[in-house]
Amino acid sequence: MPHVITQSCCSDGSCVFACPVNCIHPSPDEPGFATAEMLYIDPVSCVDCGACVSACPVGAIAPEEKLRPEQLPFVALNAAFYPDRPAGERVPPTSKLAPVIDAPKVDAPESNPLTVAIVGSGPAAMYAADELLTQSGVRVNVFERLPTPYGLVRAGVAPDHQNTKRVTRLFDEVSRSSGFTFYLNVEVGADVSHSELLDHHHAVVYAVGAPNDRRLDVDGMTLPGAGTATEVVAWINGHPEYADLPVDLGGERVVLVGNGNVALDVARILTTDPDVLAHTDIADHALAALRKSKVTEVVIAARRGPAQSAFTLPELIGLTSTCDVVLDATDHALVQADLATAEDPLIQNKLKVLRELGDASETATRPRIRLAYRLTPTSILGTDRVSGIEFTFTGTDRVCHLDAGLVLTSIGYRGKAIRDLPFDDVAAVIPNDRGRVLDPRTTQPVPGSYVAGWIKRGPNGFIGTNKSCAAETVQSLVGDYNAGLLARAHTRPDALAKLVRSRRPDVVNAAGWRAIDGAEIKRGGGRRPRDKFTSVADMLAVAAAAPTPSFSQRVLGGLRH
Ligand code: NAP
Repeated sequence: MPHVITQSCCSDGSCVFACPVNCIHPSPDEPGFATAEMLYIDPVSCVDCGACVSACPVGAIAPEEKLRPEQLPFVALNAAFYPDRPAGERVPPTSKLAPVIDAPKVDAPESNPLTVAIVGSGPAAMYAADELLTQSGVRVNVFERLPTPYGLVRAGVAPDHQNTKRVTRLFDEVSRSSGFTFYLNVEVGADVSHSELLDHHHAVVYAVGAPNDRRLDVDGMTLPGAGTATEVVAWINGHPEYADLPVDLGGERVVLVGNGNVALDVARILTTDPDVLAHTDIADHALAALRKSKVTEVVIAARRGPAQSAFTLPELIGLTSTCDVVLDATDHALVQADLATAEDPLIQNKLKVLRELGDASETATRPRIRLAYRLTPTSILGTDRVSGIEFTFTGTDRVCHLDAGLVLTSIGYRGKAIRDLPFDDVAAVIPNDRGRVLDPRTTQPVPGSYVAGWIKRGPNGFIGTNKSCAAETVQSLVGDYNAGLLARAHTRPDALAKLVRSRRPDVVNAAGWRAIDGAEIKRGGGRRPRDKFTSVADMLAVAAAAPTPSFSQRVLGGLRH
């Protein structure tokens, strides 16, 4: 029985390198890797050794016989990636083995080890730290604005996707590496400046993600009851800055504009039985609001047709296995029309799942999700607060009104400019060449400045996509360091710690984070993975009570605290 990759695939490619028979594709060196919705195991070539299971950071791989019923569609999905051929014939016969990308060799004297600041602590930051710390002697200091690390894995991945959140175990391991130091609760740009970081490091890598939303430019966006899906995701996940977000679930219908995976996440949480969510790490305030919710229908409205759906097939399969998802008759007809002309097998597979959905005219027995197509938003309706949304049928003047108590745009994240660095306002990224920040006026690199993740390439891909993205940046950085292009003024290891403490006496270190982590898990009481703190003050109180590392531990840790 071959192994099968399932919904929570993060595409970081760890499984590809673990596989002894090269049966997982696309591999990071293959053309389809950057755009693949997931990775696939070739059932004919798989030797069932299980090496990929251990390598996968998010528990996405299982032997076929151990799949849960809702995971069974992934058997055909994995197989469909590979061409039909005689039994036993390996595929692709001409492919080379997935390359092991060599970690860059750092050429550093012991007296002045390569020292890198990473700003942000999400997947791109942690994969960059991991890549740098593959060699002994390198030091990495990770700066994070919040007292808790891991960015969107903590505050963006939906609470019912606990497998995906398991990647934090890998990040915890990275944070325990010799040479790694957390500076949590420190804001670069406010508490310490870019140039101060450069004084204390050879290079600064910005892995700050894309913290803003793309805004929909229509009337009514400022009405109470209008907002963005990404804010609601942060509220659901207990992000301290969104704990007080007013999310009114008192109306029967919620409309989401845009149909990417974020819209699917929000729709799923709003329609899932709160008793099920009570076993996740959803924020208490969100769970309480969901228990009182009057929402019976969530409409996910896309401006284009079914074939252009932005959600991925694994997420659609996951959604339809847990929620009631319907289409109305017009949209069923659009699916059939698209199926008749679609050539891409991936799109065909998505359309085939959509074709099987129930009809919106059937009586609903529980809160449900309706996927709606070819609706271009024109204004959000209401006087004191939102009462609905107006669309035109895309490409026509015909108008359609939907009543709604809550309208959330879900049209993507957007990068934000960083003080002292150039910014491309159109693409909302920092201009760069393979991670080296470029000055657009001179097209020359900005010394010592690098980017990784969404601020480098835009808000696309999955958690694991950041692994190869960060590796590319680290290759550039180490290349520059070895070429003698990077220097730092302060070499005393405790000078930085003193500077940070003088600005932020309540800086949280690794011990502080572990204390917060342990306290949250304990609050979960074994019924939930954790019960999150949603106030910074509470987090800091727990971190402050964490035992201070002993002198010998500090010395052993390279004076990391
Ligand atoms: P997204 O995938 O880029 O989807 C954006 C949606 O907004 C599209 O449907 C797009 O339609 C629509 N849109 C854009 N501008 C619009 C406008 N002016 N009017 C109406 N609709 C508009 O964004 P996302 O859902 O925020 O996801 C961001 C990234 O995170 C993606 O790579 C996603 O896969 C990833 N993610 C993954 C997971 C997971 O794997 N579980 C979960 C969450 C997020 P058009 O296509 O017509 O432009």
